[in-house]
Amino acid sequence: MRRNYEAVIGLEVHAQMRTNTKIFCGCPTTFGAKPNTQTCPVCTGLPGVLPVLNRKALEFTVKTGLAMNCRISPYSRFARKNYFYPDLPKGYQISQYELPVCEGGWVDISVDGETRRIGITRIHMEEDAGKNIHEGGSYSYVDLNRACTPLMEIVSEPDIRSPKDAAQYMRKLRTILRYLGVCDGNMEEGSLRCDANISIRPVGQKEYGTRTELKNINSFRFVEKAIEYEIARQIRIVDEGGTVVQETRLWDSAAGVTQSMRSKEEAHDYRYFPDPDLTPIVVQQSWVDEIRASLPELPDAKQARYTSSFRLPEADADQLTAEQAVALWFEAAVAAGAPPKAVANWMMTELMKHLNDENRPIEECPVQPARLAGLIALIEQGIISGKIAKTVFEEMYATGRDADSIVKEKGLVQISDSGAIEQAVDDILAKHPGEVARYREGDEKLLGFFVGQLMRAMKGKANPQLANELLKKKLV
Ligand code: ADP
Ligand code: MG
Ligand code: ZN
Repeated sequence: MRRNYEAVIGLEVHAQMRTNTKIFCGCPTTFGAKPNTQTCPVCTGLPGVLPVLNRKALEFTVKTGLAMNCRISPYSRFARKNYFYPDLPKGYQISQYELPVCEGGWVDISVDGETRRIGITRIHMEEDAGKNIHEGGSYSYVDLNRACTPLMEIVSEPDIRSPKDAAQYMRKLRTILRYLGVCDGNMEEGSLRCDANISIRPVGQKEYGTRTELKNINSFRFVEKAIEYEIARQIRIVDEGGTVVQETRLWDSAAGVTQSMRSKEEAHDYRYFPDPDLTPIVVQQSWVDEIRASLPELPDAKQARYTSSFRLPEADADQLTAEQAVALWFEAAVAAGAPPKAVANWMMTELMKHLNDENRPIEECPVQPARLAGLIALIEQGIISGKIAKTVFEEMYATGRDADSIVKEKGLVQISDSGAIEQAVDDILAKHPGEVARYREGDEKLLGFFVGQLMRAMKGKANPQLANELLKKKLV
């Protein structure tokens, strides 16, 4: 992007709530069921039925609003958003319009070590539509399993200034939603998707430019790519003397471009009006207090605690708190007595590598947190070397056993007996007179060679510090 333009970005994020049943009927919300097996007269929009609000959906929305620093409206209501589409048999979507449940919050994101605050305009509840399936040529199909599943729409202020920040904001929302347990955050299954609103303006100008809206982006990478493309497209138009038209565009991930879908609809096109089938929603303060008390420690608070109490670097704290289950695993290992930084190092290298390779969630990690603490204790006490510890860890991961018994069984205890090491050093120096001579003439890089030989001779079990000392002493 050229320096003389600035991008203005606002995201509307749709999060599918993790309720067992739909928002206005008792049908299950399980993903991937056979088409139209999870439907009833309410969610298929038959005449004469009455929707009833799922209390859990309201609770989840309030919870999210509190976690994102919103005001919780004591009084809100549902509105009908009228439009026609085959996957919407009622001819309207039940949503919220002028009175949403949550308003006026914020979320902090951190990018390249800087914290930026993104305003949350509102969070409202709505039902999802069904799915149209266009495959196989001459027919299209409608699957209403998804119709009426509960969504939260989280609308940001136009506070985002770069594609990277937009992706980071989206990641942060996912993290918070998962901590709260209100959305599984599975983007491949469409549980979390966003519409991105984008405009550009000359740097220094206060007024916003005309925006376009990109629909239904379902990956962090695409959020970034699609917005990047769109900013460049708008700059090109303006540079060539044209004007950006307000419209809805689609991101074509295969082609890497955005394409016009339709001219932007305005709120009045939808003929919003209060839904007469649903009573207004009254949220009592006592219930809000109860929900607030049930909030878990959130990622920002955890991160602050990790850097202050545990003295972890910012980057470690960031990585360890991105997923609650990872954070809890870390805390369990520290609670078992291991130094925080050592736990962080093991987790962010060996442990994560193994889990990622196998695509396993940390909940299914074969090594228990206390057992990692046990391994670290053996290193700290000088019983095994850091190098041997890696071998022990492999065995722990493969078998789930504790470090102590593996070390004992395989005879991996570090040799700290200087007599034994000295003997081995003498043997090696005797075997390599040429190298010894060169070392004594000043080729000190050869120390590494001797250490390698010694370690090989002692099967890696020599106490490295002692080995180094003795070698140096004998080589002078
Ligand atoms: P709608 O629901 O019709 O899309 P909203 O007024 O609810 O419209 O705004 C949707 C999103 O667009 C919000 O996230 C808001 O921050 C963003 N937005 C509004 N104006 C602009 C603009 N000029 N440039 C970029 N984003 C904008
Ligand atoms: Mg919109
Ligand atoms: Zn139903």
